[in-house]
This record gives sequence, structure tokens and C-alpha cells, in this order.
Amino acid sequence: MSRIEIAAELCKACELCISVCPKECIEQSDTLNLYGVFPMRMRDGAECTGCTMCATMCPDAAIEVYRTVAEKTRNQEVAK
Ligand code: SF4
Ligand code: SF4
Repeated sequence: MSRIEIAAELCKACELCISVCPKECIEQSDTLNLYGVFPMRMRDGAECTGCTMCATMCPDAAIEVYRTVAEKTRNQEVAK
């Protein structure tokens, strides 16, 4: 499963990332950051696909996406 990391101190809580995530992976946290807003975080149990829509949309480059690459099977290796 892919995942994201959101830099809480960079987030201004504009919610653009929430609006574009097709899997509803992002939610607002309940802890204030230095901006005095409640930053976003990855929701527990989120099924992130690593599509990068959230990171592309974030105006403050607060999101990093870690995409899981499917492990090749032995047959795929041989067919190569
Ligand atoms: S990478 Fe895609 S699926 Fe994952 S949290 Fe961002 S928008 Fe959602
Ligand atoms: S788009 Fe970026 S700045 Fe806006 S709420 Fe999401 S993480 Fe925060």
C-alpha cells in the first residue's frame, strides 16, 4: 500500500488535498500547528493508491507520496 506524509508545520489547512483525493485518505488532525490551524493527516486505514494528486495540488509542497511498487514475480523476471 502506498502512503503519504504531510509536514504538519507547512500545512495551512486549505483542504485542497482533501478535495482531490479519490480514496478519501486525508482528514484534519486535532492538533494545532504553528500557523494556528489544524493540519491534515493521513486517515487510519486509508487505501492510498499513490496517485500523487494531493501532493500535486498542495500549494505549500507539504505532502510527500511514497508509492509502493508491485514486486515482480519470478515469471515476470524470466519473461523479461
Ligand atoms: S496519493 Fe492519491 S490516493 Fe494517496 S492520499 Fe494522495 S490523492 Fe489520495
Ligand atoms: S493542500 Fe497542502 S496546505 Fe492545503 S490542506 Fe492539504 S496539506 Fe495542507
